[in-house]
Amino acid sequence: MSGPVSTDDAAPEAANDPPAGPEVELIPGREAQVGSLTVRRVLPRRPRRTVGAWCFLDHMGPVEVSGANSPDIGPHPHMGLQTVTWLLAGELVHRDSLGSEQPIRPGQLNLMTAGHGVVHAEENTGGYRGPLQGAQLWVAQPGATRDGPPAFEHHGELPRLEFSGAEVTILVGDLAGTASPARRDTDHLGVDLVLRSPGATIPLRAEYEHALAVLEGVVTVGGQLARPGMLAYLGSGREECRLETTGPARALLIGGVPLGEQILMWWNFVARTREEVSTARQQWMDGDERFGPVDSDLARIPVGPPPWEV
Ligand code: MN
Repeated sequence: MSGPVSTDDAAPEAANDPPAGPEVELIPGREAQVGSLTVRRVLPRRPRRTVGAWCFLDHMGPVEVSGANSPDIGPHPHMGLQTVTWLLAGELVHRDSLGSEQPIRPGQLNLMTAGHGVVHAEENTGGYRGPLQGAQLWVAQPGATRDGPPAFEHHGELPRLEFSGAEVTILVGDLAGTASPARRDTDHLGVDLVLRSPGATIPLRAEYEHALAVLEGVVTVGGQLARPGMLAYLGSGREECRLETTGPARALLIGGVPLGEQILMWWNFVARTREEVSTARQQWMDGDERFGPVDSDLARIPVGPPPWEV
C-alpha cells in the first residue's frame, strides 16, 4: 500500500515554507493509484512537503477486498525512510528482504526502516475478504541513520491514552508522558485519534509543527472543517489543540521538530542528491544485491529513469 511519489505530488527538491506560528492551513490531497487501489495522498503536497520528518501520508480505503480487488503491491525498494503502516480495518501481510513475514491487523504497527536499502511487498492475506482501510506514512531518516542497515519492527500492542472526547493510540513518539516503543530516529510524533462529540483538547509540543489527517468523519480545527482527503497543517508554537466533532471521527495527528535539511524524494526513495537516487534506481533495475530478494509470488515493480535523466 505504499505509493511511489511522483512530480504530481511535489517537485523533487522544492523546499517548505518555514512554519509560521499556530495557524490552520487546509491543503487538499489528491487521488493516486497504488496497485489496484485508489488512495488519498495528503503528503507530500506542493505547499507542504514535510511535517517534522514525516514526508508521506497515503490514506487507503475504505474499500471492499474481493478476489478482483486485492491490495497486492509487489516487491519494490526503499531507501532513507521508515514506512509506518496502520490499519483501521482489514489485514495485510508484509514481506521484506530481511526475511520478515508479518501480518498486520487494526491496532498494530508495522515499522520498516530502509536505511541504505530494503525491499518489501505488501499483500492481501490469502483468504481475507471484507473492508480494508488504513494509512501508510513515511518518515525521512536523518543523516546519522539514513545510510545504515535496514530493520523491521512489528508492535502488536501500543500505548493508549484516554482524554475527554478522545481515545488516543500512540504509534510513534510520546504524548503527555506516554511513549510508543517504536523506533524513532528523529524527534517526531504520530498518534491515532478516535474522537467523539463534542471533541477533545490534545496537548501538543510548542517546538513541533503538527498536522491532522482526518480519516473518517469531519473535524473542526481553528474554525475550519477538515475532512478525509485533506491535510490540516497546524503550524508550530501550540501547547494544545482543540478538535471539535459533532459525531464520531477518526484522525491521525502527526508532528515533529521541523526537518533542518532539504530532502529529495522520488519514487520510493528519500535522498539528498539526484546522484543518490539515480544510482539506487539503476541498482534496483540491475538486480544489485543492495536490494535483496523478497519471498513473494508477486512480480518486482520496475521504474523508468527520474525526470532529470530524460
Ligand atoms: Mn513500500
